[in-house]
Amino acid sequence: MKHPKSEKLFERAKRSIPGGVNSPVRAFKSVGIDPLFLVRGKGAYVWDADGSKYIDYVGSWGPLILGHSHPNVIEAIQKQALLATSFGAPTELEIELAELVKELIPSIELLRMTSSGTEATMSAIRVARGYTGKDKIIKFEGCYHGHGDSFLIKAGSGALTLGAPSSPGVTIDTAKDTLNATYNNLPSVEALVTAHRGQIAAIIVEPVAGNMGVVPPKAGFLEGLRNICDREQIVLIFDEVMTGFRVTLGGAQQWYGVKPDLTTLGKIIGGGLPVGAFGGKREMMELLSPVGPVYQAGTLSGNPLAMAAGLATLRMLKEENPYPELERKSALLAESFSENINRSDIKANQTRVGSMLCLFFTQKEVTDYETAITSDTKAFAHYFREMLDRGIYLAPSQFEAMFVSAAHSDEDLEQTIEANRKALNRIRD
Ligand SMILES: *Cc1c(COP(=O)(O)O)cnc(C)c1O
Repeated sequence: MKHPKSEKLFERAKRSIPGGVNSPVRAFKSVGIDPLFLVRGKGAYVWDADGSKYIDYVGSWGPLILGHSHPNVIEAIQKQALLATSFGAPTELEIELAELVKELIPSIELLRMTSSGTEATMSAIRVARGYTGKDKIIKFEGCYHGHGDSFLIKAGSGALTLGAPSSPGVTIDTAKDTLNATYNNLPSVEALVTAHRGQIAAIIVEPVAGNMGVVPPKAGFLEGLRNICDREQIVLIFDEVMTGFRVTLGGAQQWYGVKPDLTTLGKIIGGGLPVGAFGGKREMMELLSPVGPVYQAGTLSGNPLAMAAGLATLRMLKEENPYPELERKSALLAESFSENINRSDIKANQTRVGSMLCLFFTQKEVTDYETAITSDTKAFAHYFREMLDRGIYLAPSQFEAMFVSAAHSDEDLEQTIEANRKALNRIRD
């Protein structure tokens, strides 16, 4: 399919914006084509600059669980815009959203709003360090926690050695304080804890990994982390920026029944506007200024437009409870994709937790980063292009989630399943 207007816009964008995009995955680099420029979204659909319509499974990378431009969300934004767009002063809207988040995620006793998930995770580890008086954090290889320096750290050469910057511009001194464990592997965590006993402030984890494709936690993994943290007095942080209000209303912590000390949120909490949040135990969150000494701030934090959009979204989720339907639709997609995979003889397998899905082009069961990267990314790129040509808009990388929204109809799903079948056959042939 040709996209002449998008191609022209991309050429123009590259003259003013690095790589033509404001966030790297958007550039479609790993799928070997130029990105589409989008102009409109409604329900389950997006339209590009050339006027083509697609069934969208990106949903702005997770926030749009109700679909694009839900009438309640649009109305809330419009109403607030007529009052004011920003004050930098307290508003009742902030309280309402905070109260609703606390009700839905009871491990959160106090929370603070930010403008992105990145800020939320940066601030959460600062609170954990302030609380414990320790410097090091453990994260898991393949998990993503935004682009804060402390998280752009890969494993060093030996499993127990200190981390190394995964991006130029991150200092070696910063890398020294970030240790990488293996997802779904408690012994790898125990080894780090033993090697750095008494020095670890926090363990941060995506309770369902969604940034190396979708990798579910094995039974006992999250409980095991909870036990290690209790035993060693380490702060357990669940990064629920993606999973919060997504896998279920109370997030992955409700789904798996494991309570973290701190939780980071983003994406759905802003209903499509820029919002993040972090919160948890009162005694930790009360360390934040102005109550305590740990500094954290934001000119646009708690922005009224963003609060209005987030509130409208969370209220809809609470009132309408779309989760059983999301589960049914997502299971249908995942099972149908698996059947298509089996019939096509393609080496692939399908993972899913709630409405987060991933089709990995590998025969290996994916349980961590090592197994995720056995995927044939060339096959994924081919799959992506075949799907796009059939009107299905997926995230342009093997290592991203596919999101089902409340707006996807059974007809949309059937069309997607049929496209999947044809795309897999094309890749095989
Ligand atoms: C998206 C994401 C982030 C980063 O959020 P931004 O709003 O992009 O800064 C952090 N953690 C997880 C798990 C995410 O999925």
